[in-house]
Order: sequence, then structure tokens, then C-alpha cells
Amino acid sequence: MTMQANYEAYAARRKAMEGTHFGPLWLNQEQRYVHPFRIFGNVWYVGDSWVCVHLIDTGDGLLLIDSGNCGATAMLIQAIWEAGFNPADVKWIIHSHGHLDHIGGAVFFKRMFGTKLYLGEPDARMFREKPWISAIQDAYNDGDALFEPDYEIKEGDVLTFGNTTMTFYLVPGHTDGCIAAFFDAHEGDKTVRCGYYGGFGFNTLQKDYLIEIGDPEYKTRQVYLNSLAKVRDQKVELFLGNHCINNDTLGRRQKQLENPDGPTPFLDDQLWKNYLDMKRDDLLKFMADPKNS
Ligand SMILES: [Zn+2]
Repeated sequence: MTMQANYEAYAARRKAMEGTHFGPLWLNQEQRYVHPFRIFGNVWYVGDSWVCVHLIDTGDGLLLIDSGNCGATAMLIQAIWEAGFNPADVKWIIHSHGHLDHIGGAVFFKRMFGTKLYLGEPDARMFREKPWISAIQDAYNDGDALFEPDYEIKEGDVLTFGNTTMTFYLVPGHTDGCIAAFFDAHEGDKTVRCGYYGGFGFNTLQKDYLIEIGDPEYKTRQVYLNSLAKVRDQKVELFLGNHCINNDTLGRRQKQLENPDGPTPFLDDQLWKNYLDMKRDDLLKFMADPKNS
């Protein structure tokens, strides 16, 4: 191929990327930049305006929950610095699930800083056996890569990271390996219970999708409902989103800015239950709709 033909092939791919769902998210990442902020005590927000990344200062290294969208790693590094931390101190990344918009920084952190990568066991298996389910191909960047986790999270795992002990459950539905995590955050002498649910989207419950992945009876939808029920009654005073839409991350941040000395607007002991119940009701409605069967 001549240099000119090679360039033209590149330009055509680039043009096609602009017209895709994930392409603009890669190409225009700076438009989603959010100045990082403290949610409560040792829990910080370092994600963008669409997909959440949380940073927990464990007193013995930093822990991230998720590593951002593919193509957003530079932005994540900037947010960690801007929050007053050094990205080299990220010892652990817990991944909510194995989709392209949550794993973007994983390989970079592991190779650059030796960060240990965590992922639910079923999604680790998915990376090995059916990697296309990660949708990494939709990032439209061949430089993005899946990874071999250092640890595969299993049902009921209780793992300690510095001063933070997390209890994990598998909550399959959005993917087979979605995790839920519960842990205490600390601010002075105050402790609150945090809850995290790693993936709510119904995009993977659509009939064409389920048929393609080998679930023609749509059993995954009931699996999703069972997962919600399993963790619904956990005590959660601080619900951390997987995407900003889950807990209105940016709306709460706005309230925090308007009343910086008031109580953190992220504390709400009803939100977790209410949101999980809303997803349950939405899914039951979705399942009752003849166009989804
Ligand atoms: Zn997902």
C-alpha cells in the first residue's frame, strides 16, 4: 500500500468512527471532563460526566472503582492529579464489569504503575472465551486491549485494601460478571456505609442481543431481577453510581458547590433501595412489552 492509500484508508476509518456511538466518546473525551471532587471523607469522584470512576484513599495506597471509558485514560490521570493524588499510588482497580466504557485505563495502570486489576470471575472468563461481549471492538481504537485480571472476584469475597474492607457479591444481568460492593467510608469520626452496583443498562437485555449470545429464552432478564433482589436490603447510606445517571452524580455535585458547608448531598439512605426498585419495575414493564418478547 502506498503512503497515500494508507492515509486515505485511515481517513475513511476516522470518518466512520465519528458516526458511531462510541467513536465520539473517544474522540471528544475532553468535553466530558469533570473537575474531581470529594464525595465524602476518603471517597473521591474522578470520573467524567458519563461514566463514573471513584477513588478511595485507603491510607495504604489508592483504589479505583473502574478505570474509565476506552480513550479516556489521559483524562483520568489528570483528574487524579487534580484531586491531589499521584496516579502512581493507585494500587488496585476494582472493575464493575467487563465492558469497554469501564476498563479503559486498566492495561495502562498495570504496565505503568504495577496496579493490580480486579474483575468479576464470569467477566474474566468472558474476556478469555467470548471477548467480543466486552464490546472493545466498538471503541474503534486498536490500541485498546482487554486484560488478564490479577484477581477474579467471587460471590461473598471479603477483601481488605489498606483501611478499607469490601464485601462483594456477583450481580449478573447487565453482564454475567457484574459485581456489587459494600464498604465503610470515613470522615473524621463519622463512618458511612457505601454501596455500589456494577451495571444497570438494559442494552444487554434486548432480544436480538440475547439471541446472539445464546439465550433465546431471555433467561438473563430473570437473572437480573434476582440480582437486584439479592442486594436490595443491604444497608447503604451512600450510593455510588456506575454511570452518573444512577445517582445524579453531577446534580449532587452542583448542590455541594452551592452549599459547601452543608451536609454532603450524597448521603441518602433511601436512594439505593429506591433506585434498585425502580430498575426492577422498569424491567418488569420491559418484559411485559410484547415488542421485547
Ligand atoms: Zn456495561
